[in-house]
Amino acid sequence: MSELSEKLLYEKKSIYRTADAKTKEDIFAYAEGYKHFIDVAKTEREAVKEGIALAEKKGYMPYKFGDRIEVGARYYYNNRNKNLFVFRIGSEDIEKDGIRIIAAHIDSPRLDLKQCPVYEDSEMCFFKTHYYGGIKKYQWTTIPLALHGVIVRADGAEMIVNVGEDDTDPVFYINDLLPHLAQEQSKKTLGEAIPGESLNVLVGAMPVEGEEGDAIKLNVLRILNEKYGITEADFLSAEICAVPAAKARDVGFDRALVGGYGHDDRVCSYPALTALLDSPDTRHTVIVVLADKEEIGSEGNTGMQSYLLEDLMEQIAASAGKNPRVVRSVSTCLSADVNAAYDPNFKDAFEKANSSMLSCGAALSKYTGSRGKSGSNDASAEYIGRLRRIFAQKGVVWQSAELGKVDLGGGGTVAKYISKMNIDVVDLGVPVISMHAPYEVISKADLYSAYLAFLAFIE
Ligand code: MN
Ligand code: MN
Repeated sequence: MSELSEKLLYEKKSIYRTADAKTKEDIFAYAEGYKHFIDVAKTEREAVKEGIALAEKKGYMPYKFGDRIEVGARYYYNNRNKNLFVFRIGSEDIEKDGIRIIAAHIDSPRLDLKQCPVYEDSEMCFFKTHYYGGIKKYQWTTIPLALHGVIVRADGAEMIVNVGEDDTDPVFYINDLLPHLAQEQSKKTLGEAIPGESLNVLVGAMPVEGEEGDAIKLNVLRILNEKYGITEADFLSAEICAVPAAKARDVGFDRALVGGYGHDDRVCSYPALTALLDSPDTRHTVIVVLADKEEIGSEGNTGMQSYLLEDLMEQIAASAGKNPRVVRSVSTCLSADVNAAYDPNFKDAFEKANSSMLSCGAALSKYTGSRGKSGSNDASAEYIGRLRRIFAQKGVVWQSAELGKVDLGGGGTVAKYISKMNIDVVDLGVPVISMHAPYEVISKADLYSAYLAFLAFIE
């Protein structure tokens, strides 16, 4: 590159092309902790549990609404085991310094069991499912699945379910039609070929001895009764989901990438949380939100549309004797969510100059939404300008990004809900290949770049 082009042109560059040996080592080492996190935290409940374990190791304490919030203290608030707030109170005046917020989500697309899931047909026993979030249904057939969740029994006992992750566990499975008989199926569109009602999970094939009728279903219920003390009616008060049983693995001969289930959005949740836990800063007040329900519109009392973040900021302001409206007006937020990485196998869906490129750093999206930016937060030039200066100061490699071609579709994040509180917010996250597939791919370089960006933001 000439001096003039170096000075005048904006170019995205792979971090792997410029990183020295030490940086590459740091990138790879950081990814090991992440792989462990996504293996043990496949659902929002498991992510909350693991998030609390990590926070407690760093001296964070449980917070209860109404408790006084002390300067210098570190807290977490566990909202119904599905949504976690981890926060640290700094020494600066929050009416001037504001609160720095990073909001990521810990729910991922999956198949939830229906409330009456169990049935038997033709010597097989199945669980009926209702898919959660945006999935391409055909991708969920013929792969090993695990069952995760909780059953609240009639007697009130809560039984944790986690089957299919241990190498000695059985796994579960969704049937597909053999190609030999798929002439009619193959004529259908990808969206129609596997209807939602055919996403039934195969869970058994052996009858109870000496029983007539649905003896295979009865045998499955017998095994579940032995293991969890449940009856069929206990599924009425259960939340169990089928997720891919596969573990996170390095992808490629050079191990530059990570394949795994639910990078969206644990690939932003983990760096957001570890940035806060690793940061030695004591001046700024920081909240990391790990939200639930983003994949179905941030609804419910564990999603970002609830008033909890506002309530928590109000409690922090009240404890410091500050005006919460003033605090909110000077607070800033990174909505930490993934972006679609440019994929040369599907060129037609992307506009290359404005797509995030794999390994070129955390992707900042000024706006999301669909069609004419409908449903978008559209962050201001001033706020992005401020972030640019912070990232430049701290040497964070980042890139701009927009989700695919203008007329092809789109997506949203939690940014718009946080902006309603009079807070400046923009999306920043990791580019993903095959987003929402049972097994997605990300670059270790982008994961580490997001971690450095979050560190720079909170310090
Ligand atoms: Mn997401
Ligand atoms: Mn998503």
